[in-house]
Amino acid sequence: MTAGNVVTMKNILVFLEQRNGIVKQAAIEAWNVIKACAGTEPGNIKIFGIIAGPAETGGLESLLAGEGIIHHAEEDDLALYNSENYIGIVSELFERESCSALYFADSAMSRDLAPRLSIRLQAALLSGCEPEHPLVMGICHRPVYSGTAMAVFTAQSDRTIYTLASTSGNTKTLTDGKIVFKKYKKGCVTDLHPASIVRNVVMNQDRPDIAEARIIVAGGRGMGSKESFGVLEELADVLGGAVGASRSVVDEGWRPHAGQIGQTGKTVAPFLYIACGISGAVQHLAGIGSAGTVVAINNDPHAPIFTRADYGIVGDVHTVIPNIIGEFRDILKKK
Ligand SMILES: Cc1cc2nc3c(=O)[nH]c(=O)nc-3n(C[C@H](O)[C@H](O)[C@H](O)COP(=O)(O)OP(=O)(O)OC[C@H]3O[C@@H](n4cnc5c(N)ncnc54)[C@H](O)[C@@H]3O)c2cc1C
Repeated sequence: MTAGNVVTMKNILVFLEQRNGIVKQAAIEAWNVIKACAGTEPGNIKIFGIIAGPAETGGLESLLAGEGIIHHAEEDDLALYNSENYIGIVSELFERESCSALYFADSAMSRDLAPRLSIRLQAALLSGCEPEHPLVMGICHRPVYSGTAMAVFTAQSDRTIYTLASTSGNTKTLTDGKIVFKKYKKGCVTDLHPASIVRNVVMNQDRPDIAEARIIVAGGRGMGSKESFGVLEELADVLGGAVGASRSVVDEGWRPHAGQIGQTGKTVAPFLYIACGISGAVQHLAGIGSAGTVVAINNDPHAPIFTRADYGIVGDVHTVIPNIIGEFRDILKKK
């Protein structure tokens, strides 16, 4: 699955997605991954960022690695995603700063925007690239066949757009340099676009989205019923995490599809993943390849999930989980 030559790099643009005025953690991690990789490339490659829409940038500098220039298009009418306006700004900046690569963190927005930009910029599109692998510019590693093999793709174009799969926490590691924020004036954007979002209907959700959560407590068919997920929600609340589910659970109607993890669900990358009553089918494991520490609770000592787990508890979820909640509460109370 490998073809072509490695692309010669010019400058790099990273799309720093904001939602509700907050730059997403996944975008910050993408910047830090790119910054680390660019440091290994020959030549003087500059890194630029773009934030479209009003966003809080006060604390960003302490989170973003190395030096770079971040253009911020602050106009209110960019607060909500609009493909035409966003394409206009990103493509204009890409040309203006003589970029050859454009990076996105994987998200619903980037899955819509990146292909459109690849047409506008006449750029190759490499999606779902694994940041855990050495991300040499122009090369993308992507797991295939439910994570049982890794395909390596190279772009055959002077311009490439990459979307990066989520990571289990690429925090800032490079401290030198300075991030400069520049106000970006959108020259190209008009009010005449074929479609626009008039409002966002957001599900009432007090917990983080599983795609971004640092801690995920996930339940499988072994939880036994829809009602049993109450105890998982309690555990997630104690830990400040999200609740995920296996496909069997979603098929049973115990949890919404938005929480499904795996091949036909979401790929997640928390630093802690607690799998409760999940057997560990290959299609489920495909979604947790980038998770950090995996803890499995299962009453079958031979369940395949234990081959992926760093820590395993053989026992009944209905006994083990309430005990764990009690322990965590005691520990957190003492802090
Ligand atoms: C094309 C395709 C795509 C798929 N995509 C996905 C996907 O995206 N995500 C996904 O998850 N699956 C996916 N699947 C389904 C997958 O193959 C498995 O069927 C599914 O993951 C099993 O879910 P489960 O582990 O919850 O249930 P089960 O396999 O039924 O496992 C339940 C586990 O709970 C344990 N258990 C039972 N009672 C208790 C108890 N009281 N205490 C502790 N442990 C207990 C059992 O020992 C068992 O290990 C896909 C399948 C196909 C064919």
